Amino acid sequence: MKAIRVRKFGGPEVLVPEEVPAPAPAAGQVLVRVRAAGVNPYETYIRAGAYASLPELPYTPGSDGAGTVESAGPGVVSVKPGDRVYLAKSLSGTYAEYALALEEQVHPLPEALSFAQGAAVWVPYGAAYHALAHQAGARPGETVLVHGASGGVGVAAMQLARAMGLAVLGTAGTPEGRALVLGQGARAAFDHSSPGHAAAVLEATGGRGADIVLEMLANVNLAADLKMISEGGRVVVIGSRGEATINPRDLMARRGSVRAFTLWAVTPEEEKEIHAAVGAGLALGTLKPLVGREFPLADAAAAHEAVMRSGAAGKIVLAC
Ligand code: NAP
Repeated sequence: MKAIRVRKFGGPEVLVPEEVPAPAPAAGQVLVRVRAAGVNPYETYIRAGAYASLPELPYTPGSDGAGTVESAGPGVVSVKPGDRVYLAKSLSGTYAEYALALEEQVHPLPEALSFAQGAAVWVPYGAAYHALAHQAGARPGETVLVHGASGGVGVAAMQLARAMGLAVLGTAGTPEGRALVLGQGARAAFDHSSPGHAAAVLEATGGRGADIVLEMLANVNLAADLKMISEGGRVVVIGSRGEATINPRDLMARRGSVRAFTLWAVTPEEEKEIHAAVGAGLALGTLKPLVGREFPLADAAAAHEAVMRSGAAGKIVLAC
């Protein structure tokens, strides 16, 4: 089978397509014929060797994917060959034609969704649901600012927040991105590259501030976020690429809080709840992953360059 292999940490050029043997499922394992793999920013950090925990070399990247079950090992009861599934992590990596996964890493993909959409589920919707439900304790009627709403997690967060009964405000760095944000049902879209956007967010909430801010780039925005939240407001840090300086008095004045997480640390109970909630939304059609760009598997390097550029417009996936 074809798979992307990384033999040394470095730039996008270390993502090399290779011919490797397809794995075979042991007891409790499932082999998936991957049709699309999701590309997430953290995969670029790992590839560059700049992440807290690194895989042993060589490795195949990717934790998100979708396709059909090729075969199942002894003891597997929840899926059978031919079933359409999305992957939430795998044992062998999803940037490949086949991926080996534990039975619990394989979830049903509704007929109405494409494989590319299925590859946009786990990290984006998992992070967005965890941020809203488990970290922020979001309640219907509250207002959420999705700070960085045009990318994979941002789109997922807007759809989930709307389904949960929240009012949504979003930001994007380009006019196309802001049009996408409004198209996803946000009440207003702001330009996060403009210094005036914090004041505009406050104005849009009648001066009250947002109950929740979901932050995709905390090193740039955290200090300003603390001035944009309401009394009792919560900032949830989803992404950050450096250090931030804040004034704790901004939190004190609002009895606010800042939470942060990585999806890898969710508990098994939280993970079960994420799949139950997201699976229901996918089946009902309230959640519709938005694929912005597709690259052939062999062009994984170009996909890694694209995911780190500004001007996001939904999820980037690899066709496998
Ligand atoms: P993505 O699809 O590449 O989108 C990046 C988003 O960040 C875009 O909406 C982009 O907007 C926005 N952005 C750029 N500059 C910004 C700024 N100054 N202020 C606010 N937003 C800005 O990436 P993603 O998959 O959505 O992930 C977003 C971030 O969350 C990444 O840093 C990622 O590593 C992190 N993340 C963390 C977890 C976790 O477990 N904690 C899970 C998933 C993702 P424009 O392109 O329109 O400017």
